[in-house]
Amino acid sequence: MCYPVELTNVPCPMCKVFKPTGARCPHIKDICSNRALHPRHDVVHLRNAEVKSFNGCGYCKVPSSPILYLPFLLTLRS
Ligand SMILES: [Zn+2]
Ligand SMILES: [Zn+2]
Repeated sequence: MCYPVELTNVPCPMCKVFKPTGARCPHIKDICSNRALHPRHDVVHLRNAEVKSFNGCGYCKVPSSPILYLPFLLTLRS
């Protein structure tokens, strides 16, 4: 799962679903700066998520419908 890089205090989405065994988040985050597909911001994404479809930049995978990620972002705020 991914989100704009300027949302710096977003908790790790995978750790919310799969509780980490240690005290810290075990997930590797990466930043995608593909300006062609998301021209207004860089995107933080995971590289070793338990769910394969969460790996990689979702904005690049679903460039035509980033709105798909909006419900997910809203759940983070509640
Ligand atoms: Zn995590
Ligand atoms: Zn991207």
